[in-house]
Amino acid sequence: MTLFDKFAQLANARQVIEEKCSDFFNIVMGDISSATEAVVNGRKVILAGTNNYLGLTFNKECIRASCLAAEQEGTGTTGSRMANGTFSGHVALEHELSDFFERSQTIIFSTGYVANLAILSTIVGPGEVILLDADCHASIYDGCRLGGAEVIRFRHNDVGDLEKRLQRLAKRNTNVLIVVEGLYSMMGDRAPLADIISLKKKYGAYLVVDEAHSLGVLGKNGRGLAEEAGVEDSVDFVIGTFSKSLGAIGGFCSSNHAELNLIRYASRPYVFTASSSPSTIASTRTALRIMRAKPELKHQLWNNANLLYSRLQGLDLNVGPAASPIIAVRYANVEDALVIWNGLLELGIYVNMVLPPATPDGGALLRCSLSAAHTTAQIEKIGDAFASLTEA
Ligand code: PMP
Repeated sequence: MTLFDKFAQLANARQVIEEKCSDFFNIVMGDISSATEAVVNGRKVILAGTNNYLGLTFNKECIRASCLAAEQEGTGTTGSRMANGTFSGHVALEHELSDFFERSQTIIFSTGYVANLAILSTIVGPGEVILLDADCHASIYDGCRLGGAEVIRFRHNDVGDLEKRLQRLAKRNTNVLIVVEGLYSMMGDRAPLADIISLKKKYGAYLVVDEAHSLGVLGKNGRGLAEEAGVEDSVDFVIGTFSKSLGAIGGFCSSNHAELNLIRYASRPYVFTASSSPSTIASTRTALRIMRAKPELKHQLWNNANLLYSRLQGLDLNVGPAASPIIAVRYANVEDALVIWNGLLELGIYVNMVLPPATPDGGALLRCSLSAAHTTAQIEKIGDAFASLTEA
């Protein structure tokens, strides 16, 4: 037995897919000419699977800010926030996020993944309990595991199942943290936040909402599902990322609990990694400012989302129950999805192909994510491509 025998199953699964669709493991984006266009494996494609919700990756002000920061402060911080890696931009961005979320504290992290790892592994620990929605992102699962708290899943968006578990835990007299997402990353559906908050209050639990996919997308000011649902005051910790609507890389947690600040000294994923580069911080700050100043970006995103959703629904494709900037088409088996995914690529459309175990029900998903930067003509082309493959 060698060190690598355990990868044999993975290698076989990979080979089966590769025989059916050679492009699948070889997607390399080249010649990226805008937020919605690139050359993939020699073909010019429309990008419809990027999470670039507001299309800000090519915003001229963001690019200028990023270049200027590199010129003025260098290409990297070369250290962690606790040592030499706190520059004035990091502190300013934390204040700007606190102002945006109207919360007293914010900590930023090198990625959204690290934000979940850092917060969830630190605020609860051995003897305490995390109740997480089964469809939560891998970074949430990993953060929960890292801290040593007991982790219990409840069925996706099932408030009855959540209450059953809270009832059982009430006898134990321990701290309970509920973790959900705003807009779920795979299906684009919303958490039933008002009902979850009623339960949180009834059982004296705490609540984290990961708004990674809802920042800039939901709520009057783009603060996410909690804002849209009018329940921000009852959310203890908002977590999010800069890698989607803000078009950069990084993560954050905002809260009104003053103790959030202490996490800086207690959280290994915060202490033991280098901080974000000046360029990243500068483009993120600019993107945040633009997002706040231009609600029309969110409106354009939703126009595009509604347009594609109704087109795909009209094709009788198995899409989710409501329009969203994440539109996932479900396929019962992986082979069917692979054929359509490959066909889309040949027609010049890139979408995300999601395979088990990342899918909620063991099937496959073709996940489209839309952008304010898509033109109506591009949305129509995406719809036409699905139509020609579906009706073929
Ligand atoms: N949370 C959720 C819900 C996500 O979907 C993702 C990434 N897709 C992350 C966190 C991690 O974010 P990042 O890419 O910034 O690490």
